Amino acid sequence: MASEQVECGDYLVERIPVVEEKQQLVTEDVYTARIEATQTSQILRFAAKTLPNLNGIEHVKRVRRESAEPNGKWLLVILCQCKMMDRDKLDAHLKGTEWEDSQISVNKVPSYPPYTRDQFEQWKTIWPVAYRPPVKLKKLIFNQEEEAYIQACLLEVDELCHQNYSTGSRSVAVVIGNPVTRNTVARSTDRTRETGNPLRHAAMCCIAQVAQGEVERLATREKGTLQTRNKSDLDDDNIHLPLKRTHEEYDSEKIEPSEDVANYLCEGLDVFSSKEPCVMCTMALVHSRIGRLFFIDESESGGISHYSMHCIKALNHHFTAFKCVRLTNAEK
Ligand SMILES: [Zn+2]
Repeated sequence: MASEQVECGDYLVERIPVVEEKQQLVTEDVYTARIEATQTSQILRFAAKTLPNLNGIEHVKRVRRESAEPNGKWLLVILCQCKMMDRDKLDAHLKGTEWEDSQISVNKVPSYPPYTRDQFEQWKTIWPVAYRPPVKLKKLIFNQEEEAYIQACLLEVDELCHQNYSTGSRSVAVVIGNPVTRNTVARSTDRTRETGNPLRHAAMCCIAQVAQGEVERLATREKGTLQTRNKSDLDDDNIHLPLKRTHEEYDSEKIEPSEDVANYLCEGLDVFSSKEPCVMCTMALVHSRIGRLFFIDESESGGISHYSMHCIKALNHHFTAFKCVRLTNAEK
């Protein structure tokens, strides 16, 4: 799998593959019948009526030529998956039909749909499969302004880290940026030591800042009529959950969602971190629906490189994650 890297000034930015891109070829067995091309529709009708449907391998093509010859007479047609019935039962189904004397064999087919073109090229040699390139797998390209914005945010993270380190705290810093305006909207260092609160990781502090900023902005906009949480809930040293605004809340508050009001706290925002976020912070980033995460140092217990939490199918939000390597002067 070719890795995607782009240089952004002092940093080499590399997209972290999603789980599907790392998937190796896995196969399962199917029964096939050897038939002439003219019999295809008949045997498919027979299979549809009397045999179990194909389940979970809809990406697999039902029919293939027996040989590579373009005008070969013989085809192999998938009858059903071997896990659905044993061979004796299949023979019993075929007995007395026009397919009784067909040559039945067991063939392997790819268990999963290919996600990348490389997987497609490799897996289709086992058995023909359909391929739909995922929309989000578009080529990694940053324009000049975006490169400058990414570099500026990463430099800010490094600078914050440096300042924090000199005060004796752990050297972790996070900046949240808006990719549209290219401004930073929150910044924080790790505050666990100075507050004695083990949850005050830099990313959590930044999300809290975005939450507070949103509350203040909406309160100003509604001229104080907006029902917000108690001020004590918003004290900087209290962890508070992102204020998810549902459509019902919009309705009850008579606030019309507009282009500048996100439905989730950090929807579409970029998070820049000196260290790969831990599992807790990564989950908070998923819940607040960030658009992209850029981190510099990998972590042994990180939510991305070890748990791929940015692309877990069961979660209702996914984001793109990038690992950023500082380039030395010689590497630039
Ligand atoms: Zn954390």
